[in-house]
Amino acid sequence: MANIYYESDVDRSAIADRKVAILGYGSQGHAHALNLKESGIDVCVGLRDGSASEAKASEAGLVVRSLADASAWADVIMLLMPDTDQAAVYEEHIAPNLQAGDALAFAHGFNIRFDLIQPPADVDVIMVAPKGPGHLVRRTYVEGGGVPCLIAVEQDPSGGAKALALAYADGLGGARAGVIETTFTEECETDLFGEQVVLCGGVTELVRSAFDTLVDAGYQPEICYFECLHELKLIVDLMYEQGIGGMRFSVSDTAEYGDLSRGPRVINDSVRETMSEILSEIQSGQFAEEWVAEAHSGRENFYRLEAEGREHRIEKVGSDLRAMMPWISAGRVSVQEASGGQG
Ligand code: NAD
Ligand code: MG
Repeated sequence: MANIYYESDVDRSAIADRKVAILGYGSQGHAHALNLKESGIDVCVGLRDGSASEAKASEAGLVVRSLADASAWADVIMLLMPDTDQAAVYEEHIAPNLQAGDALAFAHGFNIRFDLIQPPADVDVIMVAPKGPGHLVRRTYVEGGGVPCLIAVEQDPSGGAKALALAYADGLGGARAGVIETTFTEECETDLFGEQVVLCGGVTELVRSAFDTLVDAGYQPEICYFECLHELKLIVDLMYEQGIGGMRFSVSDTAEYGDLSRGPRVINDSVRETMSEILSEIQSGQFAEEWVAEAHSGRENFYRLEAEGREHRIEKVGSDLRAMMPWISAGRVSVQEASGGQG
């Protein structure tokens, strides 16, 4: 069974007299900086020279420093820039300013799991990974709640790394919802697998393939959009609230029989084999190597695939239909504002 911690398990003194630098002010960065500050923790934000985020962070009442100055000032340094930029930032700005007894913190295990960053042995290495996008980490905190967090310890020369990770997660609001203990390896590998196979990759391709099958068979695209994409939320909400059994209880028995008898034909043994292959590519480091090389060589494939995705006919039908249902996106953070995708 996993170790799960709540507010009564937290020793707040573990972070009370530390200085925390949040490097990066994107999706996670703004939420960490503001939540920790409002939890009474001494924070500053570290940004690149000329960063567009500087005005936003200052206006929010945060102290802003250069990446190097923030690293030198702090004794807890949280890296919240894109995963593929962290190693270069570490080498140039953080490593020269690290001292024995400092703690390096991450919100995703990627750079430690794949040895892109190799911290010295006299520094604590912890992870605090909220299980939700940054704007939700911020919004639930303001509302008095919290997003569940994962914590992990990779290096613990101080003997206090776990207490620090827990107190940091508490400062984000995470202990109100539950903080689960994991390892860098488990968090990193399951996170990559989840987003590739289910949350992002699996679900988008399932929706588009089903939509194409229906439209090619001559059905009206608007009907196909509602069936294959719009209604997905209603079903996922039921699963989120009551599990798969609860969802099956709520749908008609015709839908349930179709689910039980046809689902395993869609996700068949060949698909399961592909899932195992994808997991192996993650575990061996092949995916990480491919993605870092792509990110450092101009992202040609990435941008081409992204552009192809935008051209898919489901996007046009969807945007027209959603424009007729403005309440669907009302109050939602726009793509630009959220400034970041799935972690
Ligand atoms: P992001 O892209 O939203 O923001 C990154 C920020 O870093 C930018 O806004 C900018 O301020 C700064 N930045 C960009 N390039 C930089 C560079 N070269 N040098 C210095 N600063 C730079 O990133 P994010 O989605 O908040 O991800 C940050 C970390 O949090 C990653 O490790 C990610 O895996 C993890 N994470 C993200 C989410 C999520 O939902 N977005 C969830 C859990 C964990
Ligand atoms: Mg993720």
